[in-house]
Amino acid sequence: MSDVVLGTATGGRVTLAPDRFAGFRAQVRGAVCLPGEPGYEKSRTVWNAMIDRRPGLVVCASGAADVIEAVNLAREHGLLLAVRGGGHNIAGHAVCDHGLMLDLSAMKSVRVDPASRTARVEPGVTLGEFDREAQAFGLATPLGINSTTGVAGLTLGGGFGWLSRKHGLTIDNLISADLVTADGRLLHVSAREHPELFWAIRGGGGNFGVVTSFEFRLHPVGPQVLAGLIVHPFSAARALLPEYRRIVAEAPEELCCWVVLRKAPPLPFLPREVHGTEVMVLAMCYAGDLDLGLRAAAPLRALGQPIADVVSPHAFAAWQTAFDPLLTPGARNYWKSHDFTALTDEVVEILLDYAGRLPSPECEIFVGHLGGAVNRVPIEATAYPHRNVEFVLNVHTRWTDPAQDRTCVGWAREFFDATAPYATGGVYVNFMPDDEVDRIQSGAYGASYARLARVKAKYDPGNLFRLNQNIRPAA
Ligand SMILES: Cc1cc2nc3c(=O)[nH]c(=O)nc-3n(C[C@H](O)[C@H](O)[C@H](O)COP(=O)(O)OP(=O)(O)OC[C@H]3O[C@@H](n4cnc5c(N)ncnc54)[C@H](O)[C@@H]3O)c2cc1C
Repeated sequence: MSDVVLGTATGGRVTLAPDRFAGFRAQVRGAVCLPGEPGYEKSRTVWNAMIDRRPGLVVCASGAADVIEAVNLAREHGLLLAVRGGGHNIAGHAVCDHGLMLDLSAMKSVRVDPASRTARVEPGVTLGEFDREAQAFGLATPLGINSTTGVAGLTLGGGFGWLSRKHGLTIDNLISADLVTADGRLLHVSAREHPELFWAIRGGGGNFGVVTSFEFRLHPVGPQVLAGLIVHPFSAARALLPEYRRIVAEAPEELCCWVVLRKAPPLPFLPREVHGTEVMVLAMCYAGDLDLGLRAAAPLRALGQPIADVVSPHAFAAWQTAFDPLLTPGARNYWKSHDFTALTDEVVEILLDYAGRLPSPECEIFVGHLGGAVNRVPIEATAYPHRNVEFVLNVHTRWTDPAQDRTCVGWAREFFDATAPYATGGVYVNFMPDDEVDRIQSGAYGASYARLARVKAKYDPGNLFRLNQNIRPAA
């Protein structure tokens, strides 16, 4: 066998002699793939087709021992290290060119303890897989809205979805984690053990080590919840968005209602003539009793003259997959995001302006609805600093033809700039593309940054875990 040449963190190259590489390969229980070997293409392919990187080596870990082995190899040789959970991150940090890619997607165990209402989850588990296991016992924890997203990356950035107004962020339900740090140690972190590190991984992303196991608190949810879509003609949006704003300001925390502005997909419950035209969609879920849900949703359902109202009892696990067909992997994607404390009239006007000139049929403007339990957590309790946010705007620019890259990215940036004066200046770290380096410190980590940098200096002084929205170790 010939030498294995790998990329270093500083952009250089390092050669692993055949016996060193053979020794490494023999130690690892999972698959170790060089370019061209089986499994390599699958690992390096991530959700966003804009990302096309070729690692020098892929390690598909089977457990913590493999993770330790890979981290040690990367540290000892100064390798560029990328860590993949579900591979969904828009910035594509899960994969690198030339370096070592640590793919955790084979680590799939979910163990639910219905008695204590907790779950132990490995880092290759997707949201849908976690929901499936927890819902077998009528339990759930807040996760995101697309079932193929990875639990790992979502959790480390914060994590929110339909249950968050009632039960908080995903990290607010994290009890403990097992983490391999840059020195190759496996630490159990919780409020009692390594509390600073536990604080940091709740919002600080993958900066501090590789999580090999998460322990979550679960809540009784469903299995049937009141959920669904109300689709309005785009022409009604100017009148209805202020009404939406008024109603959700008074809504109970169980009710979560997101706004989606996009061209109507060919859904069977929409008349054919609506397909491909702009619509305003209210997507809602009530995390509680079905009858109380009907009462809470009534004011939203009474608005205007919808084209369709398909709000009804749904199996919670099925509702968690409702947006999957619109968010499939393999398309080109570019996102821009802002946090808002209020959707002012000015913001509404800008949303309508840009929704009226979407650059491709798959583009959409998402307004996620937060507040409630998320905002009752003290800002210093976790590294996630955005505890005053009521709405998260996410501009999902999505297309397939590379010839449209400039138009689509340009539209998203222009829209982002237009709404910036009305936003908080904060941004959810998991919605950031890889060209927003200037927003990392004050926008993503904000009030937590200095403390995060001190924790980074303690646990990863050499910045081994740098392929992320990176926190520089404090001097
Ligand atoms: C279609 C879609 C819908 C989404 N909807 C929501 C939503 O509703 N709510 C929400 O909160 N977010 C949502 N997100 C954002 C999502 O939280 C991020 O994309 C997140 O990074 C995905 O995690 P992953 O494990 O799939 O990603 P990956 O790309 O695998 O990982 C992202 C980064 O996390 C780090 N990482 C991953 N695993 C580990 C680990 N085990 N240990 C240490 N570091 C690790 C690494 O730095 C890696 O680069 C959505 C994303 C997509 C694409």
